[in-house]
Amino acid sequence: MENLLKRKLHLGIAACQFGAKVRYNGKGIDLTQCLGRDRGQFIWTPVCPEIMSGMGVPRPSIKLSGGNGFDFWAGKANIKNKEGENRNEMVKKGAIACFETLERANIDAYVFMEGSPSCGVYRTSLKNQRLGNPPGVFGALLLEKGIFLISSIDLQSPIRWWDWKRRLVAFVWIKEQNVDSKEVLKDIWDKVKYVLYELHEEEAQTLRDRIRIILNSSDQPSKEIYDFIKTSILNLLRKPAELENIKKCLWANYVDLKQKENIEVKEIFEPHILRNMTHIAQELLGIEIEARKKNMLFRSSPINYKPDR
Ligand code: SF4
Repeated sequence: MENLLKRKLHLGIAACQFGAKVRYNGKGIDLTQCLGRDRGQFIWTPVCPEIMSGMGVPRPSIKLSGGNGFDFWAGKANIKNKEGENRNEMVKKGAIACFETLERANIDAYVFMEGSPSCGVYRTSLKNQRLGNPPGVFGALLLEKGIFLISSIDLQSPIRWWDWKRRLVAFVWIKEQNVDSKEVLKDIWDKVKYVLYELHEEEAQTLRDRIRIILNSSDQPSKEIYDFIKTSILNLLRKPAELENIKKCLWANYVDLKQKENIEVKEIFEPHILRNMTHIAQELLGIEIEARKKNMLFRSSPINYKPDR
């Protein structure tokens, strides 16, 4: 199976993070500009649930009360604006309209804005330490539907973005594989296991043990077992890596490529050498480019994303 993804990925994004001035106070910022050439590697679908609710710009800010976004959909929490007016019906319709748009756009992932009572996933307030009632109304819908979620804040960090992109690409590549035989399962595992160890060693080891049992058994696994393993791998890929682990594995995987494949890249440093995160991102990209040129597997970023124009 070729470790190549050629389909151009579709990303949904909070419209206020794509430059649309749709926030309650008329503000918006285009964080995709931070991605440089990567911006053109995706098809973007910006949506704003609060605009689609019909509340307009500017508008009084809204707040979730009595629970989080899940409670809201269960009819146990409310959305009210600063003036105390109930906005439940409007917000519901706005969120559903946006979700239907994302479904039509066939998105592979969604870039959310953290801190909003609508779009927030891990916090619904931007006030210092306060988390609010996460997830927000739209955030809860996205979580419930199992969408691959990327925080827009991370678009500003080259290393964080690199981590999101390599995991998303691997996620979509695996999702599109038909895992119906031991050979396919082994092939997928051999390609992505290093990233999984880097993300969560303990969970990856548990998964490795399960896969070994399946591969060594004389029985043919059921579809449910294959689906379970596939979902477990996909779920691990949703979690961001610790920066320390990225640094450690960068070096180990580079040494592997150097020894086995004679790949040499300038300015790759051992983990103990201090340098900033932008430099580390450049190191990773440098190795990735060299490995792709020679058609070698770079364990830190195993799937080659080469979208058609
Ligand atoms: S956070 Fe979501 S609801 Fe708020 S302005 Fe941005 S896209 Fe609209």
